[in-house]
Amino acid sequence: MVTEPAGVSRLDQLGRALRDLRISVTDRCNFRCRYCMPKEVFGQAYHFLPREQILSFEEITRLARVFATLGTRKLRLTGGEPLIRRDLEQLVASLAEIPGIEDMALTTNGSLLTPAKAAALKAAGLGRVTVSLDSLDDHTFQAMNDVGFPVAKVLSAISAAQLAGLTPVKVNMVVKRGVNQDSILPMAAHFRGTGVTLRFIEYMDVGNSNGWQLVDVVSAREILDAVGANWPLEPVAPTRPGEVARRYRYLDGKGEIGLIASVTQPFCGGCTRARLSAEGQLYTCLFASQGHDLRRLLRDGSTDQELSAFIEGVWGRRTDRYSELRTADTTALAKIEMSHIGG
Ligand code: SAM
Ligand code: SF4
Ligand code: SF4
Repeated sequence: MVTEPAGVSRLDQLGRALRDLRISVTDRCNFRCRYCMPKEVFGQAYHFLPREQILSFEEITRLARVFATLGTRKLRLTGGEPLIRRDLEQLVASLAEIPGIEDMALTTNGSLLTPAKAAALKAAGLGRVTVSLDSLDDHTFQAMNDVGFPVAKVLSAISAAQLAGLTPVKVNMVVKRGVNQDSILPMAAHFRGTGVTLRFIEYMDVGNSNGWQLVDVVSAREILDAVGANWPLEPVAPTRPGEVARRYRYLDGKGEIGLIASVTQPFCGGCTRARLSAEGQLYTCLFASQGHDLRRLLRDGSTDQELSAFIEGVWGRRTDRYSELRTADTTALAKIEMSHIGG
């Protein structure tokens, strides 16, 4: 990956730089996780984006290049399920050429991450993958993904990623009370000592279709106490500003866990993330209700300078800190769905 500096960081209204860009490459997914794309909403009648409305690899690459000149250093490909997008490694290869990009990662449900795909992504320049897995128990996991997808195949995907060198591999586990709380300790036990970092994510009120309620959230504190009571832990200092996961290491040297406490301990103050949806809308917050149309500019013949000025203007006006302000009123607001902007 090319690493020479490319431009200066622009700051938003709260002094936060535009360091990370999360790119959703599709709004489609082959899972129907209850907390993200419940079947009742994302069923047969749901209108996914038609192909012509989705950004091409060339359009995504052009935008990422402009973001890099504005100080973006880290890219994450997500979705929907990003590996549904055919030949994703071609996009990875173009993004890897962009000066200034220091880190490129992918978040996936693992269903399509075969050893061959993992090797192709690595060869194209992908750095790391995060695989989502909510339980080791098939009954629980299948009820959560709601398409009967088995645990064993996701574990194979994790191994494929490790073997291909897409490391360090992280595993995301969303914890929902009364659903997969029982899986916290088995998951910790399974991934301890494997080089995989397990990250527990508080169930969030993203979108408007998952029926989120505060009582369903298992707090990071509860999770930390449960894991720490079995295997003592100590905090690890963040390696970079704006790190969302609070990190802890096992005292016996068996690796680390992360806790993403977006509900109980929000981290908006260090949020340096912009999000690009599959249809080219720029969102400045995971909980935004409105995006900024970059596709129109791309397809109107705007120059890179015009794109850059537009993005800089949007970022410069940014004041978002949804999680810090979360109240009963804000959770009821209309928000973009997680499957549109990829978490
Ligand atoms: N399909 C890919 C996957 O599942 O890894 C990438 C997209 S998915 C939207 C990105 C991450 O968001 C996943 O780790 C998923 O578990 C998490 N996520 C989705 N809905 C969530 C919610 N309501 N609360 C917390 N995390 C959520
Ligand atoms: Fe699909 Fe990922 Fe959402 Fe699950 S969390 S429905 S795998 S996009
Ligand atoms: Fe960033 Fe918005 Fe999440 Fe706060 S609520 S951390 S501003 S994405």
